[in-house]
Amino acid sequence: MPPMDHDAQVSPSAAAAAAAAAPVVASPTFLPPRGSKASLGRWLTVMVLAVVALALLSSALLIENFARAHAERRAVEALRQVAVDFRDALDRGMAQQFKEIRVLSQLEPFRRFDDPVSMRRALDQVQIGFDHFAWMGVTDADGRVLAAAGGLLNGMDVSKRPWWQGAQKAPFVGDVHAAVMLEKLLPRQSDPWRFVDFAVPLLDGNGQRIGVFGAHLSWSWARQIKNELIDATMAQHQADALVLGRDGSVILGPSALEGRPLAEAMGEPGLAVRQRTAEGQEYFAVNVQSQGYGAYPGLGWTVLVRQPVSVALADYEVLRQQIILSAVLLLALAVPMCWWLARRMSQPLNQLTQALGRRQRLGSGEQLPEVGGYREAAVLSHALSELTRRQSEQDRSLAQLNQSLELRVQERTVELQAAMSRQEASERRLRTIADNLPVLISYIDADQRLRFLNATFRTWMGTEPEAALGRTMKDIFGLVIYEQRQSAVKGALAGVRQRFETRSEANGVQRDLLTEYIPDVQADGTVAGFYTLATDITAFKQVERELDQLSRIDSLTGLPNRRQFDQRLAEALARARRSGLPMALMFLDIDHFKQINDSLGHAAGDMVLKVFAERVRSCVRETDLVCRLAGDEFVLILEGLTQMEEATTIAQKVLEAVSAPLTLAGTEVALSTSIGVACGRGEGDSDAALLDRADDALYAAKAAGRGGWRLAE
Ligand code: GH3
Ligand code: MG
Repeated sequence: MPPMDHDAQVSPSAAAAAAAAAPVVASPTFLPPRGSKASLGRWLTVMVLAVVALALLSSALLIENFARAHAERRAVEALRQVAVDFRDALDRGMAQQFKEIRVLSQLEPFRRFDDPVSMRRALDQVQIGFDHFAWMGVTDADGRVLAAAGGLLNGMDVSKRPWWQGAQKAPFVGDVHAAVMLEKLLPRQSDPWRFVDFAVPLLDGNGQRIGVFGAHLSWSWARQIKNELIDATMAQHQADALVLGRDGSVILGPSALEGRPLAEAMGEPGLAVRQRTAEGQEYFAVNVQSQGYGAYPGLGWTVLVRQPVSVALADYEVLRQQIILSAVLLLALAVPMCWWLARRMSQPLNQLTQALGRRQRLGSGEQLPEVGGYREAAVLSHALSELTRRQSEQDRSLAQLNQSLELRVQERTVELQAAMSRQEASERRLRTIADNLPVLISYIDADQRLRFLNATFRTWMGTEPEAALGRTMKDIFGLVIYEQRQSAVKGALAGVRQRFETRSEANGVQRDLLTEYIPDVQADGTVAGFYTLATDITAFKQVERELDQLSRIDSLTGLPNRRQFDQRLAEALARARRSGLPMALMFLDIDHFKQINDSLGHAAGDMVLKVFAERVRSCVRETDLVCRLAGDEFVLILEGLTQMEEATTIAQKVLEAVSAPLTLAGTEVALSTSIGVACGRGEGDSDAALLDRADDALYAAKAAGRGGWRLAE
């Protein structure tokens, strides 16, 4: 029986009813607890403040960067200018000194090699005007000092001195060096004596060198230039200047550094570098190369001017402080402004949200306020109040709809309950009918699981139907029975009605069943399962078996009849074929039986037939078969003979037994029979042929005068 589908029919409308029955409430406006989410005002304040702070910071950084770059550029430019000025002053000074020496060397008094005294007088006078020169003198062609200002080194040989050797052909300028011969002759001073040498060859009218005019420029000359140009102007800026010789050692600068190479890197000529001294002081340093001037070729000096970075950028530092201060002040001003601005922006929205909050708490009655402030807020508040007005209308109509729906649901529920009770009553009726039918009814689904069983199942199987529901056929009926039914199950599930008989034992009872499988074909043609109707036909079968038995027995003599004989002969032949042992078939026919019937009556004839049958049976073994074929014809099947002669012996024995004296109703009856014997081993003989042969032998026995037996060929 198919499972009833009430639920599936009920549930959609029930669900709709349930949905409709739920009270219609406006979904609650989301109002986060105070403090859990920042308000628009706070957001705006923070955001605007952040933007202002960012703008201030970036512009302050920009200005600061620009100011620093500008200050550095200016400081370096100033240093470079000082360096160039100093370099030019040195170059021009040296050129001037060189020129003066060359001019002096051409003066007449310095040609009078024959008058050294006047030569010295002239030299003394000249030195008064050229007080930078520590020494001035004239040598002869061999390098001996002829005359010198102040008589210094007079008569000494200076031919080994570089200046003298340098002036062999052309005027000579020699780089700064310490005093060698003059140190002891010159007055003592705080710094050791250092000179730059000038020398000009003195030539006669033929161009022959006749002597050398030499002068030692005291290096204090350069110190003086530095004093005037650098120290006087730059001291307050802590700027410092150094002059380095071609070999990189300091030739003018602080006395601690003079004569030593500079430790710090100088960088490219003309470019500024930042130097850090061993003391940790940081400097801007600019160097320029001396280039010479006019006839003065230059001595490869480098002028280096440097200034502490902190001093160079002092103005910038002040500016920086001011920038920072301004930024902080502006920021402090921005805070209240941002707060005020954010408040002004968020106030209309605040009013709206507060109204929405109240509305949610108090129900949907309150109208939303129209707020102003700015255009967007006004538009928003107008739209919102329009929306809430419409929502109220919708809520009202929804509530009405809800009411009518509830009514309909109630009606439908009543209808459904009535339908269900009708359905239940119908089901109960069907169930009672099914349970009281003497038939086992079940429903088996496509998975071969039992889905319905009537009460007959309990009677037949001794199991509660509920315990079997949901289990498989194989599980309930066992593998053997299941396999017997399997092809029928397949056929039923394929949509073909099945009908078959079985005999099996269940709950200790043997039952003959007539079973039908009726496919449960769905509307779409698929088979969902099948119904089974099993009828108990044990009683019918019993009767049938008895009838069958009866049909095989001759009712008069109680011997097996012709029908049974046919079957038993075939079986005996098969056995003989298997065992190879000979068997014999005897055909008996009572002699002149018609006369007995005619003289004594049919009933006496029947009695004779009974006696005859009894006498024949008494001659053979239990296992041998005696049958009445028809009328007065009998057959005898003998099996398991050891030899053929056994058959004739028994035939003889039968003849004798039959012909024993018999008295019926006071009348002596002479009873005899003729016997045709056919022997065989099974092979070659069909049952019909064997019977024919026995019949032929019987015919021969009759023909031979009756009362005897004949053996078939
Ligand atoms: P034969 O020696 O040649 O056999 O001669 P017969 O008189 O015996 O002839 P047959 O065998 O042909 O006759 C058989 C008779 O048996 C004929 C029939 O009337 C009789 N008969 C057949 N069935 C029954 C029966 O059930 N009861 C009785 N009383 N007689 C029967
Ligand atoms: Mg006869």
